[in-house]
Parts: sequence; structure tokens; C-alpha cells
Amino acid sequence: MNIVIHPERVRCLNHEQQITGPVIYWMSREHRIRHNWAYLFASQLANRNRQLLLVLFNLVRSYPGATFRHYDFMLQGLQKVEEYLRSLGIPFFVLTGDPAATIPHFIEAHHAGALVSDFSPLKISRAWKEKLLQSTSVPLYEVDARNIVPCWIASTKEEYSARTIRPKINGCLDTFLTGFPATHPPFSGETAVSLPPPVDWKRLYAYISAKRNVEPVSWIAPGEDAAMQQLAEFISNRLQRYAAERNDPTSNAVSHLSPYLHFGQISAQHVASVVKESDAPKESKDAFLEELVVRRELAENYCFYNSRYDSLDGIRPWAGKTLEEHRHDKREYIYDTETFEEGSTHDPLWNAAQTELREKGKMHGYLRMYWAKKILEWTPHPETAFDTALYLNDTYSLDGRDPNGYTGIAWSIGGIHDRPWFERPVFGKIRYMNYNGCKRKFNVDKYITLQGKGA
Ligand SMILES: Cc1cc2nc3c(=O)[nH]c(=O)nc-3n(C[C@H](O)[C@H](O)[C@H](O)COP(=O)(O)OP(=O)(O)OC[C@H]3O[C@@H](n4cnc5c(N)ncnc54)[C@H](O)[C@@H]3O)c2cc1C
Repeated sequence: MNIVIHPERVRCLNHEQQITGPVIYWMSREHRIRHNWAYLFASQLANRNRQLLLVLFNLVRSYPGATFRHYDFMLQGLQKVEEYLRSLGIPFFVLTGDPAATIPHFIEAHHAGALVSDFSPLKISRAWKEKLLQSTSVPLYEVDARNIVPCWIASTKEEYSARTIRPKINGCLDTFLTGFPATHPPFSGETAVSLPPPVDWKRLYAYISAKRNVEPVSWIAPGEDAAMQQLAEFISNRLQRYAAERNDPTSNAVSHLSPYLHFGQISAQHVASVVKESDAPKESKDAFLEELVVRRELAENYCFYNSRYDSLDGIRPWAGKTLEEHRHDKREYIYDTETFEEGSTHDPLWNAAQTELREKGKMHGYLRMYWAKKILEWTPHPETAFDTALYLNDTYSLDGRDPNGYTGIAWSIGGIHDRPWFERPVFGKIRYMNYNGCKRKFNVDKYITLQGKGA
């Protein structure tokens, strides 16, 4: 089968050369087989060069901010990947250690001819690839299997706001929002003589070093089948209400796809196609695609072009200036990280939102804004606010440590992608949110009661 992969979705990070050994797909960010352009590209490269396809995942003992909750969700998802690949007769390996050391060794041991990986704008992933480039002589291809419009094509610079990136993305959708092949391509290269022994998942669970007290959650099942199931339920039961009710945390109108998207267990492009084809009202489809495509890809743009995305240093000059001018404003309440973490502030709504985050591993999107802005209001400095919000988000949220998280926090606390508002204490010109505003939007008491019941 000839799969059409847009050439601009792929870039070679070193040099192209004839491929005379197996093609390795280093699955790094996209933990799925279906609807995965990086997997498809690697598979096609192997087929065209009549070589084996090998898939590997490299597990690091600890990843900044990752807890047992994250590792468990990820490892269970990867177990499904192994099962899927096994059913296709494609070897899957899990390496442990620093990828810049383990992968060159693997390439050498398997006399590999090329390495294909998926794209991430985050610094850790880019640093791994840069290090790897110094010690490998085979071509290293990077495929943007995360964004509908490849990040480097959507824009060549840091965008100012959704308003500036929207026309660029929308202008490329006809080119990039194409369908995927219905099935994965048959493997037509040399057939693997035998598959490697099954992955020893127990050993991998023992290997990781992560905060064990942040436990897995039970309301969401990991893996690409579960992700597809969540998508189907969203389309059938919730999408039609999305435009009207997405900002109401008591109405369950959102998709709950962010953990799957974060771990690459579902493709945003597939989600967008299914949503577009559904018979939900146009306004709901449009509202959802604005979040999934424009806002999400704007966050990728921010992290790709602004290396200071994980601190307040990344914000725009107007925002830095206004926060500086209000640095010494008196704060009515000041809390330390533990008080925030426990959800023991004076504000029952904030505490309920924090409980949702801590216990469920996901907070409703509307409350995330209120939650982060209150951290700015109740900490001694904006930098402390940024770091506290990032720590709590990344520790407890299943979808944390994601471009969306860095950008969401930078938006709430540092006005990124937003505009200056009326000046007020502490916030300066950063947009303000308050309890009464939430009361006008949704039934705050109902939300607090729901969290108290662990709903
Ligand atoms: C302070 C703060 C922290 C955040 N932290 C994270 C995070 O760690 N991880 C994360 O994925 N998102 C984060 N967001 C963005 C957003 O709140 C979540 O993506 C959304 O709530 C996820 O739930 P859902 O999939 O049910 O959303 P839905 O409303 O169903 O949206 C579908 C998808 O659209 C995308 N999306 C929705 N809202 C946004 C947004 N504002 N910006 C960018 N993409 C969006 C996400 O990929 C989401 O999964 C944060 C926002 C704020 C304000």
C-alpha cells in the first residue's frame, strides 16, 4: 500500500543516505500504532528499502515531574502497543537508561540503517536528539505526528496569540487534515525471523523512580483502545453540548481526551476528522476544533519557539513590566505550597478544584484558569506563583508536563497569548478572575459538593 505522507511532515535532522539495515522507529511521544504518521513513515521507509522495521521505546528512570500516576498510565499504554505490534509480527523493545547512550548502542547491535522518531517541542526531547546526533551515523528522521499542521510549517516564529496563528493553521488544513490509511500497511520487507522475548514489565515497574504517593486513578483506562472508546462516547453523548456547556464544570460536556493526547495514545488529527464528520451541531464542532487544533497547536508553537516556556521569563515584555510594577502590592492571603497542595486555603471553590486535580488527576479546563490566577494572588511573587502552579499541575495532572500546561499557566499568570486588561492590584494588567465570576458561569455549590463526594 502506498501511503501518502506529506513530505513537509518529515525532516531529516542530519543527512540522508542509502538505507542498508533495519529501520528503527524510536517511539518517544506518540504511544500508539493507529493514526501515527511517525510509525507510518518508518514502516514505509522499511518497506521501500526492503528492510525490517523495529520499534523501540526508551524508558528513563525518572522524568522531570513525573509521578507513579504518570508512569503507570504510560506503561499500561505501552503494554497495549507491544500487544498490537506482536499481532503484526513487528518486534518491540524497551530500553532503559539515557537514550543518547542506549539508542546508538541498539543501532550498532542491530546494524540499523535509519532511525525515525516523533516530534516534541519540549527541551528534554530536543536535547536527547541533539546528543544522539553526535554519536550516530545513520539518518535520523523526525516526524510531526502530534500536530495536524506540522509545527515548523504552521509558523516559523513564536506567534502572538490565537488570532495570529488561526489563519495560518486554517490555511493549511486542506493540505494536512487528510485521512489515514484505514489499516496499517502490511509489512512487506524482510520478515523478522523471530520476535524478541516479551517485555518484562514487572522489571520496568521496579526500575522507575517516581513519587509513589501520587497514585494511579481509576476513572480513566489507559491505552489506544480506551482512547478510541472515550472519543466514541464523547461524540455520542457530549459533543452536541460542547458549545453551550464546555465552561460548566458540573455538566461533563468536555472530551476528557487530554491524558490520551498527552501520552500520544490518540491522534489529534484522527479526533478532528471524526468530529468533523459527526452530526453534532456546527457550533459545537467549531468550538471543539478551536481548542483541539488552534489552541493546542498554539501551545506547541509557544514551546517550540520560546525556550523559556517553563518559567515566567518566557512572557511578553508588557506582562513582565506590569507584574514587576505590582510585585510589592499587599496580598490579602499568602499560602505555602503544602497549603495549596492539600487544598486548605480559605476558598472552598479553589480547594474543590485542587481536590479534583489531586484525586482525579484532571481538573476541568475552566477552573484551571481560576485556580492558577488565584495562585498568583496568594503567593508572594509572580515567579513563586508560576513555579507552584507548574509543580501542582505537573505532579497531579495526568496530562501535565505538556505544552498545553506550560502555556496554560503562562496564559493565566503571565498573560501569554492574551492582551492587557484593566489595571488592578497584584495582577497589574493580567486578566483577573474571581469567585463571583464563576458563580455567574456555573453552580459553584454543586461543583464543591461533587468534589466533596469524590464525583
Ligand atoms: C492553568 C492551566 C493549566 C493547564 N494545564 C494543562 C495540561 O497540563 N495539559 C493539557 O493538556 N492541557 C492543559 N490546560 C489546557 C486545558 O485546560 C486542557 O487541555 C483541557 O482542560 C483538557 O481537558 P479535555 O481534554 O477534557 O478538554 P476539551 O475541552 O475536551 O478539549 C479537547 C482538547 O483541546 C485541547 N485544549 C482544550 N483547551 C485548551 C487550551 N486552553 N489550550 C490548549 N489546548 C486546549 C486539549 O488538547 C484538549 O484535550 C491547562 C490550562 C490552564 C489554564
